[in-house]
Amino acid sequence: MEKAGLGEVYEKLEAGERLSREDGLNLFKTRDLLALGRLAQKVRVRLHGRRVYYVINRHLNYTNVCENRCRFCAYWRAPGDPEGYVLSPEEAVTRLSQGPPPREIHIVGGLHPELPYHYYLELLSAVHEAFPQAAIKAFTCVEIDHLSRISGKPVEEVLRDLKEAGLSCLPGGGAEIFSERVRRKLFPRKISAERWLEIARTAHHLGIPTNATMLYGHVETLEERVEHLLRLRSLQDETQGFLCFVPLPFLPEKTPLREEIRPTTGFEDLRVMAVSRLLLDNIPHLKAYWVFLGVKLAQLALHFGADDLHGTVVEEKISEASGGREAEALSREEIERLVRTAGFEPVERDAFYRAVAPEGV
Ligand code: SF4
Repeated sequence: MEKAGLGEVYEKLEAGERLSREDGLNLFKTRDLLALGRLAQKVRVRLHGRRVYYVINRHLNYTNVCENRCRFCAYWRAPGDPEGYVLSPEEAVTRLSQGPPPREIHIVGGLHPELPYHYYLELLSAVHEAFPQAAIKAFTCVEIDHLSRISGKPVEEVLRDLKEAGLSCLPGGGAEIFSERVRRKLFPRKISAERWLEIARTAHHLGIPTNATMLYGHVETLEERVEHLLRLRSLQDETQGFLCFVPLPFLPEKTPLREEIRPTTGFEDLRVMAVSRLLLDNIPHLKAYWVFLGVKLAQLALHFGADDLHGTVVEEKISEASGGREAEALSREEIERLVRTAGFEPVERDAFYRAVAPEGV
């Protein structure tokens, strides 16, 4: 490991010591990707052995109308735009009805300026009633903030209402990069890092687990990436409410930034995966989100610290709008083949990472 310049990190990992901000920066600068991957893999195997988790799930994007107009987003449409849509709760249930019975339903959308608060509760109730076996993972902290504003209720009350309507956990999107500089540049209307973390903290205190994401590969610096990871680590020390971390590469293709920013490389994606595993020593799971990474790179990421290959996914509009998706959905068999051929053991999970017996096989 010495020759890779990662000797000090190796020693710390062996001694069970926490990595510092400086270690994080050094890891983001190393070009020895394979040595970095070996370190991340050591941690991953210690945590999860050869297991790779996946879930039979569905995605639902209930509206693309959004008042935030983030510069990096290709998904939103202005109110009144002919391409804008809103799904009624009944339409949502119909969309979710294709494919095998899901264990997890992932619901996110834009910040629609006119949808009333009761719409969100009715949406969850309808989905919960139609799919009682599935955990509903819905609404980013950005949407929760929006619900708090339109209802005039504090976040805690909103989360309680949603929980009563069927919410199980939050998907963890909208975190982007915890940097005021980047926020002003790319998503000035979106909630601040402090607000995102406060809402995640409130959810955790109410017993609602969440994921956490990081959108990288746009205008952020390496220091800002490390800061993002360390702020998540610090909240996790306090609450233990994060189930999984999901690094998301920025997909510029269909966004207004496509002329200025080039897509990430596979090298960078794997490096972010490995560094995330090493710095986030207290978040149990790390997701290789194939919808953004592509199936083949997501499979490789299993050797760079990732232990979760996400799920079968039917319907996902956000990455599709960004031009990032290469597959509509993966079957259980395809996911298991990806996992096995990479040398791991597939484990079907529920939303809380409990192993479940596969249905219908
Ligand atoms: Fe709206 Fe989310 Fe897109 Fe921003 S990233 S414009 S909040 S849908």
